[in-house]
Amino acid sequence: MTQETFTFQAEVGKLLDIVARSLYSNREVFLRELVSNAADACDKLRYLTLTDPKLSDAGGDFRIELEVVAKNRTLTVRDNGIGMSRDELNELLGTIARSGTLAFAEQLDGDKNADMSLIGQFGVGFYSAFMVADLVTVITRKAGESTAWKWQSDGKGSYTIEEAGRDGPGTDVILTLGKDGKDYLEASTLKNVIRTYSDHIGIPIVLKAVKARDEDETLNTASALWTREKRDISKDQYKEFYHHVARGFDDPWHIMHNKVEGVLSYTTLLFIPGAPPWDLFHPDRKSQLKLYVNRVFITDDCEDLVPSYLRFLRGIVDSEDLNLNVSREMMQRDPKLAKIRKGLVRRVLGELRKKAEKAPESYAAFWDNFGPVLKEGLYEDSENRDALLALSRFRSTGKEGLMSLDDYVGAMPEGQDAIYYITGEDADKALASPHLEGFRAKDINVLVLTDPVDDFWISSVGTYNEKPFKSVTRAGADLDAVKDGADTDETDEVKSPEGIEALVGRVKAALEGTVKDVRTSSRLTDSAVCLVADDNDMDIHMEKLLRQHNRLGGDHVSRRILEINPSHPLVKSLAGLARDADGPDARIEDAAHLLFDQARIVEGEAPADPQAFVRRFSQMLEKSLVA
Ligand code: ADP
Ligand code: MG
Repeated sequence: MTQETFTFQAEVGKLLDIVARSLYSNREVFLRELVSNAADACDKLRYLTLTDPKLSDAGGDFRIELEVVAKNRTLTVRDNGIGMSRDELNELLGTIARSGTLAFAEQLDGDKNADMSLIGQFGVGFYSAFMVADLVTVITRKAGESTAWKWQSDGKGSYTIEEAGRDGPGTDVILTLGKDGKDYLEASTLKNVIRTYSDHIGIPIVLKAVKARDEDETLNTASALWTREKRDISKDQYKEFYHHVARGFDDPWHIMHNKVEGVLSYTTLLFIPGAPPWDLFHPDRKSQLKLYVNRVFITDDCEDLVPSYLRFLRGIVDSEDLNLNVSREMMQRDPKLAKIRKGLVRRVLGELRKKAEKAPESYAAFWDNFGPVLKEGLYEDSENRDALLALSRFRSTGKEGLMSLDDYVGAMPEGQDAIYYITGEDADKALASPHLEGFRAKDINVLVLTDPVDDFWISSVGTYNEKPFKSVTRAGADLDAVKDGADTDETDEVKSPEGIEALVGRVKAALEGTVKDVRTSSRLTDSAVCLVADDNDMDIHMEKLLRQHNRLGGDHVSRRILEINPSHPLVKSLAGLARDADGPDARIEDAAHLLFDQARIVEGEAPADPQAFVRRFSQMLEKSLVA
């Protein structure tokens, strides 16, 4: 029989390197990883034996065995699960099949401490075996196939595959323990580790007796965790289950374990992670909840189980009422699934509401992690829009920290009838916008929206409590009606300088065809000019965003309104010039263009005509220096 040698994919090599180098304080987690894989393999085969007639007698009583042979220094983790074919061995144990691990490997940079904390976050799955073993041998036979295969590696760059023998389907992972691993030849250590990390596994984990006359010992409770009573489950057991289902190694932020009984009976055990999963913004926006029917694992790829905007949820749904004898695809279309989904969404939103009320600080941490995802529901789930709006939190110009829309509306001064917001790529940029000056002067709070999703929901939501959302970059954001928040006695009325009408007329003429209109503004205090969108036009930031994503016809640009601050010294001098001039005045014309370009630059746009801008700017500069 021939033996073939293969080289690990480069990323695996890198991963193995640090696994081997690291004196991992939590070395025992290798056992959790191997047991977790064995349990997954049994879950997969159990499903097939129920649905694939060819395999109906493949499985038996599923179990995971641990066997120690002290004289060989080996620990074997054995399962009678689905097994692996030769190709699968190559693919699954020779490359990094799981994108999470790949993301992990890509982040490794050789700094031991940083890398170690990454291991904590991701887990390294099968490869963690090399933390304790000098040699790893895998003997496996895929259910439905007659040939078994042996995979072997010392974790130093290559592995071999050759034919082998094995009774029945399943996998033996045989670890030849090195210096750092000899503790795991001790029954007491194994018991301890299994109880700590793997008690929640629903399949018996059996320690094989060392001597023939002794009895095998089952180390775990061996009933699926979610089927147990809540009061019998410790916090640590929930946490370890979370690590298993979520493949995340953070602490869950919130745990929801519920049984629903009625026309439709099902159990949910759901977790909200304490840290954002690495693939939260993957374009697939896939849920990762695992669907079980009567404790049989069906799929973790069930699109209709939960809406995308709750894709941060981890955990399981187990129903007695779904039909096992149909394909996964058919099951997806079962109306019962839609009912489960509805109940699940209602429950999760209800729980979030409670958390928001009772523990606002902790909720703020949740919001920072998952708010941008939850907000997708504002335009995707109109049925729950109100509940989602109530759960939403915002930063604003007027207050540190987060506020709700109720907070905002409750604090609106007399005369304010809209919820003002500004959108931008980041808070610093948004806060520097000239559009906010007038709002600041009047002490009007403005919501600062910096998530890409904000532009989308805000245009579809429209109002909250009958108050319209209004961008401060829109013309209609009229400040005059709002009573002054600051307690100044003098009227706020800005005395417009003489000649301002003449100036507006001349600027309009100079920018003919470039802007929609030119007018004086009440929203500016410090800046000379700004651009605003007409009420019927798209918000400026929204338009930019759509253009970046090529969602607008190539060079579609809405014409803007140029607003001029009549109390700005520069504008005052220009108004004086305009008042006195009888004929065309190049100075006013140049100034009109420069002011317009200046307003564009503040919006993050390039000047309309860069060459002309530079020429005018240099001329002005030259004059001011010569004078
Ligand atoms: P993960 O479990 O997160 O996918 P691992 O590194 O732990 O990542 O395992 C990689 C893959 O190898 C698994 O997804 C599975 O397909 C396969 N595998 C590992 N152990 C077993 C096993 N005991 N039986 C069958 N397949 C296994
Ligand atoms: Mg695994």
